[in-house]
Amino acid sequence: MKKISILGSTGSIGTQTLEVIRNNPDYFKVIAISGNNNTDLLLQQIEEFKPKYVAVFDEKNAKEVRDKTSSSKVKILHGIEGLNEISVLDEVDILVTSVVGNIGLLPTLKAIKANKTIALANKETLVTGGELVMREAEKNDVKIIPVDSEHGAIFQCLQGYNMKEVNKVILTASGGPFRGMDKERLMDITAEDALKHPTWSMGRKISIDSATLMNKGLEVIEAKWLFGLELEQIDVVIHPQSIIHSMVEFLDGSILAQLSTPDMKLPIQYALTYPNRIESKTKGLDFGEFDKLTFEKPDRLTFPCLDLAFEALRVGGTMPAILNAANEELVLQFLSKKIGFYDIPDRIEKVMNYYKVIKNPNINDIIEADRMTREYINKSF
Ligand code: MG
Repeated sequence: MKKISILGSTGSIGTQTLEVIRNNPDYFKVIAISGNNNTDLLLQQIEEFKPKYVAVFDEKNAKEVRDKTSSSKVKILHGIEGLNEISVLDEVDILVTSVVGNIGLLPTLKAIKANKTIALANKETLVTGGELVMREAEKNDVKIIPVDSEHGAIFQCLQGYNMKEVNKVILTASGGPFRGMDKERLMDITAEDALKHPTWSMGRKISIDSATLMNKGLEVIEAKWLFGLELEQIDVVIHPQSIIHSMVEFLDGSILAQLSTPDMKLPIQYALTYPNRIESKTKGLDFGEFDKLTFEKPDRLTFPCLDLAFEALRVGGTMPAILNAANEELVLQFLSKKIGFYDIPDRIEKVMNYYKVIKNPNINDIIEADRMTREYINKSF
């Protein structure tokens, strides 16, 4: 029985993690969950999974949840301290980091120091603090198991191999809802258009990132740190059917790929059961049923966010944190209709040119780069 704590249980990955746990009650037990604004769902989850601890970020929301659960034994915590506390609990084996945004970094570092296995779904943790996080993980001999479908695929393909045997990894991307469209057409595209993803069901922020290809850019940065790759060892290919979730090319030219029906519950479950596999509700593939799997090069001119991410990784230091913070703020502005689709890459590029980068950043440098970038974005444009 693996004992699980979930940072961000009410989001897309969090609810799917709970679904995996619901389907496998003999394998997993929920010890702690966390959420913020969606207190109704949090209360339902408390009722169903009976966690011992619940962290609610905002104090007011925490009070509401505390009042409504006063008859049960559950302990309600709040603030970043609450997230930190449920990340290091003695009885927890695995911490699932499915919060959105840069708030995942600190609790994840705490959990690594407390020797918890990390099922990593929070991209920003490695995008902003990759060097730091991987160094701590190595020092504490902690496993970081990716939940993201692409990194989960690469992780699976690498089982039994040494990184010295790897030529490169090939990240697949669906291309998002605007694949094949040109710049002119995308100029006046809206958030609603961007939220219609062809193959994956995802949260709002990541849906916009998928439409701009920034999601793939962030995944490139994530892959670099997770697998210890050089920039030249990471390729991106558009594969609209989302059947191949990513591939690894080895020294001898042989390529291994991981394939499945697109269903996030599969990489989530593998991260929780690793190194073992158990049954799942995801259907296998019927190769007679789909007529083709296709591949194409990403359109880097129409979707400049991909190259901005490569550039941030090339510069290194605090630059990926700057890219990430700028993107988060601009996506929020796009979702609330304050800016257009191409304002996202244009303004990210401006911010990247504006700031001086700190090499070999510590946690405070990263947090400060993040804060300054957000301030700049909201003041200057
Ligand atoms: Mg992904």
